[in-house]
Amino acid sequence: MTKLYLAIPCYNEEEVLRDSAEKLNNKYNEMMAEGKISPDSKIVFIDDGSKDKTWSTISELHKENPVFQGIKLTRNRGHQNALLCGLMTLKDKADAVISIDADLQDDINVFDEMVEKYENGCDVVYGVRSKRATDTFFKRFTAEAFYKILNKMGAKVIFNHADFRLMSKRALEAFSMYKETNIFLRGMVPLVGYKSDVVKYERAERLAGESKYPLKKMLALAWEGITSLSIQPIRMITWLGAIIFAISLVIIVYSLVRFFIGATVSGWASTLCSIWALGGLQLLAIGVIGEYIGKIYLETKRRPRYIVEEFLED
Ligand code: UDP
Ligand code: MG
Repeated sequence: MTKLYLAIPCYNEEEVLRDSAEKLNNKYNEMMAEGKISPDSKIVFIDDGSKDKTWSTISELHKENPVFQGIKLTRNRGHQNALLCGLMTLKDKADAVISIDADLQDDINVFDEMVEKYENGCDVVYGVRSKRATDTFFKRFTAEAFYKILNKMGAKVIFNHADFRLMSKRALEAFSMYKETNIFLRGMVPLVGYKSDVVKYERAERLAGESKYPLKKMLALAWEGITSLSIQPIRMITWLGAIIFAISLVIIVYSLVRFFIGATVSGWASTLCSIWALGGLQLLAIGVIGEYIGKIYLETKRRPRYIVEEFLED
C-alpha cells in the first residue's frame, strides 16, 4: 500500500487552513478505508514564514490529529522554495508525495487516480487543468500565454500544469540532484525523466482569502521560468545582431550605389553605413559574449547529466 504524503505550502492561509485540513482529512480517511493508501500516510503543511495565525493553526492541527504534520520556514522564501523544502524533507519518509496548494483549487478527488497511476508504474503524475472556467479572463489569458511563450523559449513545460503533481520516492531522489538555487519546479521536474502521465481536473475557486500570487509575483515567476530553464533570450540577441548586420550589408550596397550616381548629400552614405554596420556588429558581439555567459550559467547549475533508471547486471 502506498505511503502517501501531501506537501502543502502555506503563506498567510489562516482563512482556508482549517477548511482545507478538514477536507483533506476526510479524503484521507476515505482512501485509507478503501485501502488505497497506507494508514501512516501524512498531510504536511509547510509554513512559508506566514505573518498571520497559519503556524499556530498548523500546530493545533498536529496536536489534534497525528495525520497532520508541519514544517516551519524561518521566513518567507516564496512558494517554489517552500514546496521544494517540503518535497526534499518528505522524500525519505514517503513512497510518493503529492504537492498541492493550501487553497484546494486543485481537485483532491483525483488523488485516487494519481495513486493508481503511481502504483501502475508512473513516477510522476502531472495534474492538468482541463478548464479554467473559474479563473478571470485576465488570469486565464496571461497564464496560457505564459505556457506558450515558455515553450517557444525552449523551456518545455506541461501545458496547464502548475504544481499539483505526484512524485515517487525515486523521482524525488533524482530531483534532489538538481542543486540549483533559482528554481522553477514545473519546468525542472520533466527534466528528471522516468515514466509519467497526466490526470485531468477542473480547477475550482479559492476556498477563501485572496490569491498570494498577485500580478507582480506572477511576472516574477514567469521571468524565473524563462531564465532558469533556457538561455534562449541570449540567443535571440545573437540572431538579432546577425540580422541587423545582414541588413547593413544591403544598406551599404544601396548607399554606395546612390553615392556613385551622385544622388546623395555628402556624409549620408558614410553615416548610414556606420550606424547599421556598427550596430549590427555590436549586437552580434554582445550575443557571442552572451553565448559564453549562457554556457557558464548552465555549468554553474551542475545538473546531473544523466540519471540511471535500471542496470541489468549479472
Ligand atoms: N504560497 C507560499 N509562499 C508565497 C506565496 C504563496 O507558500 O510566498 C503558497 C500559498 O499559500 C498557496 C500556494 O502557494 O498554497 C499558491 O498560492 P495561491 O493559491 O495564492 O496562488 P494562485 O492559485 O492564485 O495562483
Ligand atoms: Mg490558488
